[in-house]
Amino acid sequence: MSTPATELEHPHPPAVGPIAEAVSAGRLPGRVWMYTNYHCNIACTYCLTESHPGAARRELDPAAMLDIAAQARDLGFTDLGVTGGEPFLQPFMPDLLAELAQQLPVVTLTNATLFSRRLLARVEVLAGLPVALQISLDRPDADTNDAMRAPRNFAKVTKAIPALVERGITVRIATTVESIDDVELDRLCALHRDLGVPDSEHIIRPIVHRGRAINNDLGVHATVPDLPAELTITADGAFYSPFGPTVHNGQLDTDLLLTRTTRPLATPARAQLGLIEDRLDGEDSTLNIR
Ligand code: SF4
Repeated sequence: MSTPATELEHPHPPAVGPIAEAVSAGRLPGRVWMYTNYHCNIACTYCLTESHPGAARRELDPAAMLDIAAQARDLGFTDLGVTGGEPFLQPFMPDLLAELAQQLPVVTLTNATLFSRRLLARVEVLAGLPVALQISLDRPDADTNDAMRAPRNFAKVTKAIPALVERGITVRIATTVESIDDVELDRLCALHRDLGVPDSEHIIRPIVHRGRAINNDLGVHATVPDLPAELTITADGAFYSPFGPTVHNGQLDTDLLLTRTTRPLATPARAQLGLIEDRLDGEDSTLNIR
């Protein structure tokens, strides 16, 4: 059976309904996050999820993520975020990101330490697609960067970034710090430009006092209005913010849990919208958490 031309020209008709209206009016952020897994090949000092190689995985399977992405698009959300843990520990990740990008633009957070020649070849499928890899790079020097993250982290990341850029993949850099002075920041910005990442793709953000940051006495104490109100789906339920489903002393934090029901996505999306609309005016944050 042939497909009508109009369907080919308009594969995703505009969404309608309260979620679409709220996103379009700017009352509800347009991004939906998915925590693909909670384990990681490293164990950073400020990790919100206490990730490490042996951490409980709490995985979302690829079929669930594709279904969430399709429902997000149909409801009127505009963007997807994929995070962990380290998403590229999941062997299906390059192909899954390419499929997710057929639904909505995607940003994926990664520590960029797993990009062997083989994985680099596999992520070439993302070139030219609306997929950005957001890579952590905190300091312009290996010793201070690695002290917060992992041995040889700086060397691996500064090797991976130009290799990804060369392959036509969009790279963003996220710098997560307690503080950074102007001289060090200038050197970090010179470095990311040298690696092929422009200023427009560099964000600087504070450590948040959740997860492992609590035990290391790091980070800013964030209240609900400080956190991006972006609907976040995990294997354990739906949360108010990607800074919600954190782990402390091995236990999942549930203070920002919206509902254990993740599908249909309209259920947590309506809960999220209700919470946002109940929030008092004048609660804007200055902490720049993102
Ligand atoms: S902050 Fe990211 S890279 Fe570091 S341990 Fe946590 S999940 Fe892994």
